[in-house]
Amino acid sequence: MVLWTDWGLICMTTPDQLGREYQADSDFVMSYMLEGGSISGRLVRLGATVDDIVSKHDLPLTVGLLLSEYLVSAAAMASTLKFDGILTFQTKSNGPVSMMVADVTTDGALRAMVSLDRERLATLGERPSAQALLGKGYLAITVDQGPDMDRYQGVVDIVGTHFIDTLQHYFKQSDQQDIVFKIATDYQNGTFRAGALTAQRVAFEGGVAIAEEEALENWRRSVILMGSATSEEILDPDLQPAVLLYRLFHEDGVQVVPPKPLKAQCRCSAGRVANVLASLSDEERQHCLNEDKQIVSLCEFCRSSYIFELDEQGQPQLVS
Ligand SMILES: [Zn+2]
Repeated sequence: MVLWTDWGLICMTTPDQLGREYQADSDFVMSYMLEGGSISGRLVRLGATVDDIVSKHDLPLTVGLLLSEYLVSAAAMASTLKFDGILTFQTKSNGPVSMMVADVTTDGALRAMVSLDRERLATLGERPSAQALLGKGYLAITVDQGPDMDRYQGVVDIVGTHFIDTLQHYFKQSDQQDIVFKIATDYQNGTFRAGALTAQRVAFEGGVAIAEEEALENWRRSVILMGSATSEEILDPDLQPAVLLYRLFHEDGVQVVPPKPLKAQCRCSAGRVANVLASLSDEERQHCLNEDKQIVSLCEFCRSSYIFELDEQGQPQLVS
């Protein structure tokens, strides 16, 4: 029986069948639903996506793992919201990692940047916590849906020893108590991986009304079952997501949605840089020239560089 056709939900039958029908690549988000729709959640895995993004920034391991946690948290959160645009996480703080930005588009494109003081990081010892890396500061969560729509922004203090503690603090502060995230990150064989499993109580219209006490009991059980997923299971690229969800929740009538791919993709382009340069005055453009009479623009997100020279009329021309 398909309960929520808008989602394209399919009832779980057998794990073998699911593994075949819902084949996911290494980078995806899969939505699931339990208890006839009163609980929903996501399973997110980032393989090449997180490795590509983190590797571009040439980060020490601890910072690479923090950024992996940050990225997969942003991807998981974006997948729980209804919006058409860009969700951005931005931290500003007084630790060696003084700023981190990660954004996710509704099309599943991710990118990130980090401001890191490597000298200060070296004073922290072997495995500093996220708290030591970030220091005191805040996380801003922004949802931008274009110029015609109101922009949403929520801000929360950085707390706890892991980044996810700050995100849970945000949910608590914004009165969204009934959402839990479990995050796993890993670095093996020179490759970063990250995964997230979430569960959330949802207002469900059209279902069979059940007593609040029973609903609460269902929710508690689901959180315990979700918590029983190991980091290895969340991350394992050989364990099909539908099979894992069936393994965890088959007694709760789990239903899944076909996986949606995620990818590393920046939104920078030579054209955008050219537009910015064109908007400057002649004097400002001259001021941007380096010793080689070139204007070099480096994207802080994907590390692509765009090199311009000024033509005889003083207009920027892309040379590489
Ligand atoms: Zn870029």
